[in-house]
This record gives sequence, structure tokens and C-alpha cells, in this order.
Amino acid sequence: MVSLVLGGFTLSGDSVAGIGTAIAVRELRLCFDLGYLCPPVLSSPNVFLSHAHTDHCGEVMNYLATRALENRDLATLFVPPSMAQPLSAFLSDWQKMSASKFDYRIVMACPGAPIPLRGSLTVIPFELSHVPETQGYVVLESVRKLKAENRHLTSEEIVQKKGLPDFDDLFEIRNRPLVAFIPDTLPEGLDHLPGEVWDSRILLVESSFLDDRKPLEAVRKGRHLVLDDILERLGRFRGEHLVLFHFSRIYAQDEIAAIVAARVPPEWKERVTCFLPTPATRSD
Ligand SMILES: [Zn+2]
Repeated sequence: MVSLVLGGFTLSGDSVAGIGTAIAVRELRLCFDLGYLCPPVLSSPNVFLSHAHTDHCGEVMNYLATRALENRDLATLFVPPSMAQPLSAFLSDWQKMSASKFDYRIVMACPGAPIPLRGSLTVIPFELSHVPETQGYVVLESVRKLKAENRHLTSEEIVQKKGLPDFDDLFEIRNRPLVAFIPDTLPEGLDHLPGEVWDSRILLVESSFLDDRKPLEAVRKGRHLVLDDILERLGRFRGEHLVLFHFSRIYAQDEIAAIVAARVPPEWKERVTCFLPTPATRSD
């Protein structure tokens, strides 16, 4: 299992292309994809599925069955529109077949339509370029800020205005992007992202291939990115940490960080991280 603490968030799970991807964000109580199961993933009541490839959602039964065994609360699976009905039918059949009862609901997550989560959090799905229908997600936190014209007010002056009818007009609501998740996509998918994605404090991007070890034509046939696609667009990223995940098994885990380190421009090294086990926590 991988566990990284970045920008105030704990990212846990694992991601190997074709094998399994699931990344839980503990502080937000949510998980992206369900192709791998571990305690932090199990503890996430909200799961945002990107697409129906097995390495991204193959653990869904295991996740629901284990949560049922442990009497956990309702799980919500947010899914691309085309997945909602088939997944619902599949899970009904699975429960019948296994004489089990899972506590879950499936919510259709439509690209561009904000999903209110708890408190001040909202999640917006966005389309990517992969087959079958695939989407990423960006988590936003709404924060109340003094409008620019009111920034001269002292805290005492603000307190004095409390209770007045126009008190709320002193403020505006701003959406701050916290974490964004870009799984399997062709590079075109990176060129039509909502602006918030590039502003996200943490941006997770699939980086299945790192160099020309696999011919580009074959990479594109599988509708994936190569590291160059990301490096070409680094200037768009205005957040704190860009996290690469979903590396192909053609790379040994030990060589991935070294290849990335050699290819990322020096001024970006501090901000680009690989979602990999640290040598001390490696279990495979
Ligand atoms: Zn895929």
C-alpha cells in the first residue's frame, strides 16, 4: 500500500496500470476508483469511479461486502452516467447470488454537474478521452472571503456589522480546488479540463508510460498518456503538488522514480511526486 502526505492530505491506496487503482483521501473521507482494496479505501464512504475497466472498479463487490460484514455506514458510489444502470443490475444479481445484503447507493455523476458533499465540499466530474466513458473529478471547498472592497475593515468593524441586514453582502463565496483526479485518458483529455483542475492543490494524473519503451502508437491505442504529455503542459499547473500514478508494469517499481526525476525539469522537482511505496513501506 502507498501512503503519501502532501499539502495537508493523506493519499492512500495503490495504482498499477492494468492491475488495480484506488486512491483514498483520508481528510475528505472519499476514494477515487476501486481497483484495489486496503483499510483506508474501505473506510471511505464516498467512492468516485472513473470508468468501468476492471482495474479501476473490480474491487467494488469486495468493498461493499467487507463494509457489510463490518456494519459500516451507507456507501455511496458516484459513477459515470453509462455505468449507473448496469452496475446497479450487476450488484443486485451479485447480492442474490451471494445471499448478501450490501448497504450502498449509486449516484449518477454527470460531467459538469456539481455534487454537494458534506459541509463546504463539492465535487465536479469532468469528461476524459478514453473508452469506455471515463471521467475525472475535482473536489472544491467553498470559502467565504471578504469582498475586495471590504478588505480595509478591521475585525472589530466586521463584528459590529454582525446582525445587520447587509452583513452577508460584505463577503463573497470562492471555490478553492483541493484535490483533482485524472485517470486514464488520451492527451486530448488534458486540453479540455475545467480550469479548477489545474488550480487544484493536489493534482493526480495518470502517467502510464514514462518514455518510448512502449511504442507511442500502442500507447495511444490503449488511450493512455506518456510522461511527455504531462511535461508539455506543466506550465498550466498552478497548484502545489502534481502526483503521477498508474504506471505500467513494463517499469520495475524501483526505476520509476529515477526515470521521472531524470525527465522532470529541475524547477519542478519539488512539486512532482510519484504515487509509489517508499522503499521502507514496500511490501511487494
Ligand atoms: Zn482504462
